[in-house]
Amino acid sequence: MNRHQWKRRIQPDDFQWWRGVVQGVFLLLNVWIGVGFVLFVRGLEGRWVPWESSRPPGVEGWLPIAGMMNTRYFLETGQMPSIHPAAMVLLVMFVLFSVVFRKAFCGWLCPVGTVSEWLWTTGREAFGRRFLTPKWLDLVLRTCKYVLLLAFFYAVLRMDAASIEGFLASPYGLIADVKMLNFFRFLSPMAAGFLGFLVIVSLFVPNAWCRYLCPYGALMGLAALVSPTRIGREANACIDCGKCARVCPSRLPVDKLVQIRSAECIGCMECVSVCPAEGALYVGFAGKKGWITGQRLAVAISVVFVVVYMGARLTGHWESAIPLDLYRELVPVARELDHPR
Ligand code: SF4
Ligand code: SF4
Repeated sequence: MNRHQWKRRIQPDDFQWWRGVVQGVFLLLNVWIGVGFVLFVRGLEGRWVPWESSRPPGVEGWLPIAGMMNTRYFLETGQMPSIHPAAMVLLVMFVLFSVVFRKAFCGWLCPVGTVSEWLWTTGREAFGRRFLTPKWLDLVLRTCKYVLLLAFFYAVLRMDAASIEGFLASPYGLIADVKMLNFFRFLSPMAAGFLGFLVIVSLFVPNAWCRYLCPYGALMGLAALVSPTRIGREANACIDCGKCARVCPSRLPVDKLVQIRSAECIGCMECVSVCPAEGALYVGFAGKKGWITGQRLAVAISVVFVVVYMGARLTGHWESAIPLDLYRELVPVARELDHPR
């Protein structure tokens, strides 16, 4: 196309508005679950709480390894696990989101991804630019999350259904969620130092945790490789302004590609939103353009989430089958429980 003939886009898309809404809602949901769980644990420890709270099963979304173990258990036995079933329900749902909607879990739902995004955009505002790691270092660091994922896969795959059942029914496995909470409540100096370091790095490097270290994101990226949702570029309509590549938090050369197939694309649609040329960038679904809008994506994510949650609840596959008396016994001694060998 002759550059003088290009058509400026007049109608902005709605991706970023809806993405902000979905991110905000899921962040609040996680805060609500987190507060409820802290109160539940403190109450069982005999500490002061402003009100009694029951255990929110959604906290198992923070137990991805239990989710992997339970998925392995389900695949081997065909039976739904009774301990931490929500961990599996949520993991499978998020993987399916990534298969259908291109790693949308990372760009639209994950609260850690949302906080990471706030950190690096705050850093960019404060310093007037974003800092990029050298390409060779970026490549080396990016492989870390796949190595971690591989280690988790290896650990889970070498367990059979009986050992998974035994592990999850052990005192440690039963209150793996409390152990995880206590890790953050009673941070060791080394863990606190690492978290502080990560926060500082995240101000400079976009999505540092997600890009380099998150095995969950690595899994979602691999699932997204088969996704029918893809960002596409019409070279004829493109004016080579490079805005899409500059805005991409995953450093993808959007302005040079015809389709974005990378496992690093988090489906944030920032590239599409910033593109000034009519029809140059689009979100395609199974080869169809224009099906996916911000509103439709937000509605689809929310509907699937609610349907899966209600389905798991109504069929009794949401709550862990752990009596309250067992929690009363185990939670006060949680810090003394070691990982079973
Ligand atoms: S390619 Fe587009 S949708 Fe994918 S991460 Fe980059 S800006 Fe986001
Ligand atoms: S933002 Fe990217 S796709 Fe859009 S016109 Fe510029 S270079 Fe082309």
